Amino acid sequence: MRRELAHDLQPLEKVRETMLSHIEPMPAEVRPLEEAYGCVLREDGVAQENVPPFDNSAMDGFAVRVLDLQKASDGHPVTLPIQGGLPAGDPGGVPLEDRAAIRIMTGAPLPPGAEAVVPHELTRFDAASVTFSRTPRAGQNIRRAGGDVRPGDIPLRAGVVLRGPQLAILASLGHARVRISRRARVAIISPGNELVEVGALPGPGQIRNSNAYSLRGLLLSAGVEPVNIGIVRDTKKDVLAAIEGAIQRGADAIVSTGGVSAGDYDFVRTVVSEAAKPGYIFKVAMRPGKPQVFGLFDGRPFFGLPGNPAASIVSFEVFVRPALRRLRAESVILDEPFGVRFPFTYSYKPGRVFLLRTRVEPDPAGGFRAVDPGEQDSSFLSSLTSANALITLEADRDRVEEGELKWARWIGGA
Ligand code: AMP
Ligand code: MG
Repeated sequence: MRRELAHDLQPLEKVRETMLSHIEPMPAEVRPLEEAYGCVLREDGVAQENVPPFDNSAMDGFAVRVLDLQKASDGHPVTLPIQGGLPAGDPGGVPLEDRAAIRIMTGAPLPPGAEAVVPHELTRFDAASVTFSRTPRAGQNIRRAGGDVRPGDIPLRAGVVLRGPQLAILASLGHARVRISRRARVAIISPGNELVEVGALPGPGQIRNSNAYSLRGLLLSAGVEPVNIGIVRDTKKDVLAAIEGAIQRGADAIVSTGGVSAGDYDFVRTVVSEAAKPGYIFKVAMRPGKPQVFGLFDGRPFFGLPGNPAASIVSFEVFVRPALRRLRAESVILDEPFGVRFPFTYSYKPGRVFLLRTRVEPDPAGGFRAVDPGEQDSSFLSSLTSANALITLEADRDRVEEGELKWARWIGGA
């Protein structure tokens, strides 16, 4: 057995940088706002208008002048005649008369001359008049035109992922169509002579193709469209044909699992070193996920992840998700890590950065704490089904002491 030499291995950050340096953003296109959920905005959202567009009431109540209620108190309530009613949607414009109040609803335009809105629960009123026992503060319960967004403001920058609030602000500014990244199609290839489809009964020596499903979920969570190419025989010819077939089907990127180690049938590795331009075979200083393969086929990024189910998921989070963010032209490529406290001691194999996949939960002392991580074998899936974070444990140690804080990142996407 060959010894694993530390100088043979590359840090995962360096490998990720190399991969990212080959990723070009997808072309942009203009689409209806309705279709833009989860897509990436490709232009700054510059406001041309005020939001809200006019001064309006923040409460259901009465629009008043401060001067008219200057003497109002519990001991000396002031009663004003009700001049009329203003529902939301009323064009407004009728001025508030002196020594009068207008019944106004939330969102209705503030009548000229009104200086405050008093919520109706702080008044006593009937159809004709309203009684106040407090002096309102000028401006109270009034939402000013442009209070949220003014012309020239940039509430959204290019690179933001459009979810509910972002779509809403684009809608308030009248952007019925938006410039977004074209949705990327990412092919999934599953090389392995041992693999059968999920509906088939595995024969002797066979297993079901589970990686195609973890990848499908991960790709969907990353905002791209998965295209399942299927199981591929372990031959150089079949692997290359699958990659070419994926490109013919319009793949903007390709992900495969397995076939990247130094085994006799690991042809993904061979195909990438012979046919990708450029092609990389990495030995990464991480556990799981030491062998990683990356290259461009016809300019399309190809990620050859290790085959072990847990290793492929971890590798996706470390390399593919950030690369897809760049492909989608997202401005955030890597989320900020956060600290996780260990309420137990934890021993692990040193020599490579250990990526502990586990569940983290709120710590009663503040922040987050790790939950007993369970089996970490790179071929075991069960601990990953409850994991929500990847915790980075240093390569030059083999143990986390109880109470220590380690850096973690969420996994699984938004
Ligand atoms: P390999 O790197 O091709 O030797 O694969 C490593 C391990 O991952 C082997 O035990 C394979 O059977 C397993 N494996 C490879 N591809 C898949 C897949 N698509 N689904 C489930 N397990 C897989
Ligand atoms: Mg294999």
